[in-house]
Amino acid sequence: MDVYGLLGNPIGHSLSPVMHEAAYAALDLDATYVTFEGDPDRLEAAIEGAAALGVSGLNVTIPFKQAVLDSVEPDDTARHIGAVNTIAFEDDRVTGHNTDAAGVRRAFEYHDVDLAGKRVVLVGAGGAARAIDHVLIEVGCDVSVANRTESRARELTDSLGGTAHGLSALPDLLPDADVLINATSVGMAEDRSPVPEEVLHGDLVVMDIVYSPLETTLLKEAAHAGAETIDGAWMLLFQGTEAFELWTGMDAPVEDMNRALRSELSEYRSGSD
Ligand code: NAP
Repeated sequence: MDVYGLLGNPIGHSLSPVMHEAAYAALDLDATYVTFEGDPDRLEAAIEGAAALGVSGLNVTIPFKQAVLDSVEPDDTARHIGAVNTIAFEDDRVTGHNTDAAGVRRAFEYHDVDLAGKRVVLVGAGGAARAIDHVLIEVGCDVSVANRTESRARELTDSLGGTAHGLSALPDLLPDADVLINATSVGMAEDRSPVPEEVLHGDLVVMDIVYSPLETTLLKEAAHAGAETIDGAWMLLFQGTEAFELWTGMDAPVEDMNRALRSELSEYRSGSD
């Protein structure tokens, strides 16, 4: 049996096991996906131990995404973003990847949104925003990064591209924008949006990467303004399908994984953890 898993601390209630187990069931694979709450002081030992035990692949989450760069061979994307969320163990090699980047790209593709040349406002400058900015620049978007702490937005755009702003610039940036992405944690389990409702308009595609709740205040207000909306489960789904494909070399059963994820999310929202 192939063993895959998620390494983080704390792990809490993770959505990844049901999503990956649904893929193994759909394709009749002899595989399992488990969670590991790793000791932050023994990360290198954890990676070596996983390799020695024959683990096939690991997803990596907080607080290990940056630190694990030193314990793996990162690919160009992971090195550029400065974070690894997926590790593949193959023969004697331990490689690090960032499937959050492909996840956001595939989420837009799935919704037939062609990002090339689009004017994008990216709100937030944390870890997720780094992966998203990398993709947006790679596909040729004109990116404006707006963050509560403007200096952090500048650090991001200095290393990955785009222009940096504070949140107060949103009313100036939004009227000409094609795409708006919320990559802050604002709206998670709270009835708030990081973007003033009055600057939203019907020519926007609005993605919120917050997935709990699925229908955030931002998405509700965007839909009310006539914008197309893409919820946070899509990025989560496609970072998972990308990891699955990297590990197995097979096409991911996207619809099975999506169904399992959304079913789990509905329980997640009602507080099953
Ligand atoms: P992070 O590195 O901690 O960054 C948090 C971001 O949110 C920063 O830009 C921060 O601004 C901003 N922020 C926090 N509180 C704020 C507030 N009250 N007002 C305005 N801005 C605020 O977190 P992350 O890893 O990037 O994750 C961000 C969110 O994305 C989380 O909700 C996470 O669950 C979600 N996420 C979703 C996916 C997915 O697949 N859908 C993937 C990754 C993450 P400052 O710099 O000013 O502090």
